[in-house]
Amino acid sequence: MPVRRALPRRAHRTVGAWCFADHMGPAAVTAQHGLDIGPHPHTGLQTVTYLVSGEALHRDSLGSEQLITPGQVNLMSAGRGVSHSEEATGHYDGDLHGIQLWIAQPDATRHAPPAFEHHAELPRIAIDQSLATVLVGEFHGVRSPARHDTALVGAELSIRHRVDLQLRADFEYAIIVLEGALSCDGVDVASGQLGYLSIGNDEITLHPYEPTRAMLLGGEPFESDILIWWNFVARNREEIDRAYDAWRNSDGRFGDFTSPLERISAPTPYWRDSP
Ligand code: MN
Repeated sequence: MPVRRALPRRAHRTVGAWCFADHMGPAAVTAQHGLDIGPHPHTGLQTVTYLVSGEALHRDSLGSEQLITPGQVNLMSAGRGVSHSEEATGHYDGDLHGIQLWIAQPDATRHAPPAFEHHAELPRIAIDQSLATVLVGEFHGVRSPARHDTALVGAELSIRHRVDLQLRADFEYAIIVLEGALSCDGVDVASGQLGYLSIGNDEITLHPYEPTRAMLLGGEPFESDILIWWNFVARNREEIDRAYDAWRNSDGRFGDFTSPLERISAPTPYWRDSP
């Protein structure tokens, strides 16, 4: 599965609380082989999975077993710890194309118990001749039912003509192009690239060069610096060390579940002399 990491970038570690974006595919999958990401842990973040095409199966240590199809959201809040897998569906053959995003959790929720939500229906809104699907937060007066722990927005845009979007001046934003190409207030953003817009803008004009699909992410600048190591979002190395040890020792912090895929081992943090 070809994956392009749009976030973090050296210049932009976070955009609001958005701290990670992997643009997955498009690639051919089969009923038996898809994302094929075996059980692995998370802490301190929410995962947001959104597909443009295809189907995938989410399993986690909360007992969730959830098929996702295009236009839906799987939202997993790790809090203090959860584990999950991303699997083939057992029935879907075809293209898989989507994005997986991480949202850093604030101090208020990052030590809380884990949770999982599936949203089969998301609000959609026509803006001029474009269409926005609101994954998380509020956009153009339309609100997603998905949980959010900080002020942010995530919206998928399907753009065919020039469109003016209303923004919040207290949010910073990123645009990730999934298909096509556009200019964002005169700056070109191609597929696989990320366009960044700092706080202080209350609108933006997008010009697509062809029918274009993009993800708009935004939010209030995050409350603190974060440290990302492997699948953990934390504030310092000691927190990462504790999460690493907990996964390595299977001490129960990340729960357990049955998957046909193999459990993924954590790489040793580079600051440790030995495992
Ligand atoms: Mn994961």
